[in-house]
Amino acid sequence: KQKIKIAIAGYGNLGRGVELSVSKNPDMSLVGVFSRRDPKSVETIFPDTKVYLVDDILEFKDKIDVLILCGGSKDDLPVQGPEFSANFNIVDSFDTHAKIPEYFDSVDKPSKANNKVALIANGWDPGMFSINRLYGEALLPVGETYTFWGKGLSQGHSDAIRRVQGVKAGVQYTLPSEEAIQKVRSGTRPTLSTKEKHKRECFVVLEDGADAKRVESEIKTMPNYFEPYETTVNFISQKELDENHNKMPHGGFVIRSGSTSQKNNQVIEYSLNLESNPEFTASVLVAYARATFRLSQKEDFGAKTAFDVAPGLLSIKSAHELRAELL
Ligand code: NAP
Repeated sequence: KQKIKIAIAGYGNLGRGVELSVSKNPDMSLVGVFSRRDPKSVETIFPDTKVYLVDDILEFKDKIDVLILCGGSKDDLPVQGPEFSANFNIVDSFDTHAKIPEYFDSVDKPSKANNKVALIANGWDPGMFSINRLYGEALLPVGETYTFWGKGLSQGHSDAIRRVQGVKAGVQYTLPSEEAIQKVRSGTRPTLSTKEKHKRECFVVLEDGADAKRVESEIKTMPNYFEPYETTVNFISQKELDENHNKMPHGGFVIRSGSTSQKNNQVIEYSLNLESNPEFTASVLVAYARATFRLSQKEDFGAKTAFDVAPGLLSIKSAHELRAELL
């Protein structure tokens, strides 16, 4: 049987994750990586992965079944999505939540006009968390949905720490508040603000001679970033930072707490505990690339999100196997 031919546009953390994930799916093969940088300067995980200049991608129009876009949501995807969806079936992880409807429209037209499928805004949030929010609301119409994030490395907050005078290096983790989660799990449906749901934990390496007290106070009182939250600041050595804080963990919880009658509460919980945010996100994109290929074979063209894809389309197993083994 012919393998599904996957290609990667943009090779950063997510692109590397897709390269790994395709190798774990026996019904897929990797055509190559398409980068805006000089291909000779791009070092792939597997030495036999081919790297091409993205400007040459149209030469591969008939050799690629699904192109997975691994560029950034802020500047890359708003340009690349509409452009590539006119020539390829695409999958991406656009995660600027407020702009998803606008981005959806921008890829819907070119993909429909050219008989392509554009599956956008996938990963874990948006993505798996979105699906679980939808299931929660649909199954328990009377209730509340709660999303907690973490433990996760926040790039924006880590950058903010590093801008404080006297800080040599540092990282910030967002942690879900255990108290808040316990309240939600109990079925009481509390009203919780973002700051009540999350805490911030910082690991900081000081420059020689820097005043730890002042640095701690400047971090904790930083408006918007840290001031509204319960923040802890830990001072560590560069060695400890390098050894223990070099991963990109993330995850969190989606909890729906509802009731089906006066006396009965029902709580649904979905949780993710991820050691590598980009590798997991990439794994989701690759499973959805399979679904995208199948939708294109069914001529179900245009823009889609995770909400529009039947779960069976994600699996390497046939519908019959799924009924026999997993139902
Ligand atoms: P990244 O590492 O910064 O890569 C983004 C792009 O930058 C790459 O496609 C690459 O394009 C370019 N690049 C990478 N390394 C470079 C280098 N050394 N020098 C110059 N350019 C380089 O970003 P990422 O971590 O892969 O994340 C991509 C996006 O995924 C994020 O913006 C986020 O929106 C999204 N995301 C979504 C979810 C979700 O749950 N939906 C979760 C995680 C991330 P070229 O190869 O063309 O140069």
